[in-house]
Amino acid sequence: MSRFFSKTAVNYFVALEALFVLAAGLLVFYAYWMSSAVVVQQMNGQYHATVAQNYLFYSMFLLLLAFLCIVMIILPMMRRSQDETVNISNLARSFEKQAVTDVLTNLPNRRYFESAFSAYLKEFNQQDLSFGLLVMDLDHFKSFNDNYGHETGDQILKVVAARLKSLTREHDIVARIGGEEFAVITLFATDAQLLGVAERYRANVSDIEVQVGDVTLRPTISIGIASNAARQKNIKIMFSEADKKLYEAKRKGRNRVAA
Ligand code: GH3
Ligand code: MG
Ligand code: MG
Repeated sequence: MSRFFSKTAVNYFVALEALFVLAAGLLVFYAYWMSSAVVVQQMNGQYHATVAQNYLFYSMFLLLLAFLCIVMIILPMMRRSQDETVNISNLARSFEKQAVTDVLTNLPNRRYFESAFSAYLKEFNQQDLSFGLLVMDLDHFKSFNDNYGHETGDQILKVVAARLKSLTREHDIVARIGGEEFAVITLFATDAQLLGVAERYRANVSDIEVQVGDVTLRPTISIGIASNAARQKNIKIMFSEADKKLYEAKRKGRNRVAA
């Protein structure tokens, strides 16, 4: 329908509709007026019943036209324009999602993570609640690419991402913040709990096995932890603290957690 009629055409049909109803109303009024006693008197007793009946018939015809116009044109057009509005808002939502989603792993991307992180940090600091940041980096990931190809590397990233996601509690956020780097926001976790949470992520990832031909690949991650224990920290300070700890974990031999 909308291929033939633009959206503003709906307004014209509604106006036409109003015109039909108005004309029908006038005809009914005229028929009534003609058949009224005054007119009958003025016309020397001649009662124009047939003419009045004709006008009533025309008014019925106009009302029928108005009804058909509503059912066949206006309602379908309105429904169509409603559908289009829904489609457009679905499209907009999907673009918004794409802008904050990592294509390879389907996890939130760095942009999303940073804005969520800032919001949580502000809110949790204000309410004197604790939460932690885990920054994770796959160990010797380059060697998977170099030895088994980039596609194998991609496959490992996907499997690790899915494993991390499966371990994340409701409201916690896991994101891919770089090539082979991930980060998790762990809400309400105290420093002591954070260590346990990070250890659970590390151990679970180290259980992953990716089969490539006859070879079984076993990716591992190193994790650096930072918490908002001091409350006044900003996002940059927390990230650099977690990064420092991450490099400590790498230096100490990888596949481990540093807090
Ligand atoms: P380390 O234990 O010190 O972290 O060693 P590493 O090899 O993991 O670190 P390095 O920074 O040397 O290499 C990271 C590699 O990750 C290099 C880069 O090509 C690869 N990489 C980054 N993004 C992607 C991706 O989307 N897909 C694949 N397959 N590889 C990626
Ligand atoms: Mg890295
Ligand atoms: Mg790495």
